Amino acid sequence: MSEPGVVVIGAGQAGLSVSHELSAAGVEHVVLERGRVGETWRGRWDTFCLVTPNWTVRLPGGAYAGDDPDGFMPRDAIVAHLESYGRSFNAPVRERVTVTGLQPTADGFALSTSEADLRAKTVVVTTGAYQKAHRPAAAASLPSGLYAIDAEGYRNANAIPSGKVLVVGSGQTGCQIAEELFEAGRDVFLACGRAPWITRRLGGRDFVAWLFDTPFFDLTLSDLPSPQARLTANPQATGHGGGHDLHYRALQRLGVNLLGHFTGADSTRFRFADDLAESVSFGDARYAYICLLIRKSCESREWHRRICRRRAHSTRPRPTTLTWPDSGRSSSRRVSVRTTGPGSTPPTPSTTLASRLRTMGEAPSFLVSTFAVSTFCGNESRLS
Ligand SMILES: Cc1cc2nc3c(=O)[nH]c(=O)nc-3n(C[C@H](O)[C@H](O)[C@H](O)COP(=O)(O)OP(=O)(O)OC[C@H]3O[C@@H](n4cnc5c(N)ncnc54)[C@H](O)[C@@H]3O)c2cc1C
Repeated sequence: MSEPGVVVIGAGQAGLSVSHELSAAGVEHVVLERGRVGETWRGRWDTFCLVTPNWTVRLPGGAYAGDDPDGFMPRDAIVAHLESYGRSFNAPVRERVTVTGLQPTADGFALSTSEADLRAKTVVVTTGAYQKAHRPAAAASLPSGLYAIDAEGYRNANAIPSGKVLVVGSGQTGCQIAEELFEAGRDVFLACGRAPWITRRLGGRDFVAWLFDTPFFDLTLSDLPSPQARLTANPQATGHGGGHDLHYRALQRLGVNLLGHFTGADSTRFRFADDLAESVSFGDARYAYICLLIRKSCESREWHRRICRRRAHSTRPRPTTLTWPDSGRSSSRRVSVRTTGPGSTPPTPSTTLASRLRTMGEAPSFLVSTFAVSTFCGNESRLS
């Protein structure tokens, strides 16, 4: 392998964008990719599609130019877009080359790769943020022999053995997989954690478009109270079927059984924390915060003001009833949860952005497992 001035590691959207800009500036470089272009997207489940609308795809020199800007590209279209983007400027990608080591030298870096070692003056690491599945500690207690996979191992409902299914983790992935499995006729239990939510459309406009008008996407690491805060889940939502709401209330209406955090299992029982109400409250507080950001941005734009008030008023969510198994009893408890909608008065923030973010918990990661549940017994479920 010859020695280029610059090595870019990873041919996802970040690596390709860097390559595009280096090419435009006439800088000799190579992009090393352990799989194929867009490998991260290729590994997602069969019906995966974007949560962000197609118009948000704004790669330098490679913006979405199709006829469905408000749609949500499915997995294979995302990969095709990245491939065609790379081809459009002859990106010097070397596929199936894994970088296994990176050491600083006196005049740059020494790279060890699955093919050959090489040196470079500059290395750009664009290897992505979602490389390793994170299983919660409680997963270690799962009985051996139970079919248990991480979200990245999920392909479709047919590939999951028959029986009831527990999805652990309620970020976008967990909610989408729970919905898909339920629609495939499965009895689905969702162990919920802390995640923000937002309605897909506010006044007929997609929530991502609203957020683009706010500082939401402009937060930098230094705005966060700790590096851990970057792991906070994205708002629960989906792009499926043209995009629709996919938060706890929507899932419960559908028929998905909501539970608290998964805390462990033995050979016959699964245990869940009695904290579903707290997780719902957390999401509602974040919902109110996002609505506050949107409201503030509306108020700061004179031309937006009247439209915003009218739209927000018409989309005010109504109080919703959530049901979940009561602690220590097999009957169900109904709890009324009132949300602060964009049309009502949001809580006035008394803290800085950093301290608000400090209250956000770490997003859980996902484990999809199947098991059979017969009766609820407090916060535990018995295996049949
Ligand atoms: C379930 C899920 C849903 C998402 N939905 C959306 C969405 O709707 N909209 C959106 O904008 N974002 C979404 N994202 C986020 C999006 O996937 C990431 O922001 C995006 O992939 C980041 O691009 P990247 O180029 O930084 O990293 P990646 O796309 O992860 O690319 C990194 C590349 O580096 C390669 N690589 C890694 N290590 C090495 C190595 N040692 N040697 C060589 N190559 C290596 C990988 O194979 C990969 O191709 C989602 C993420 C997840 C997990």
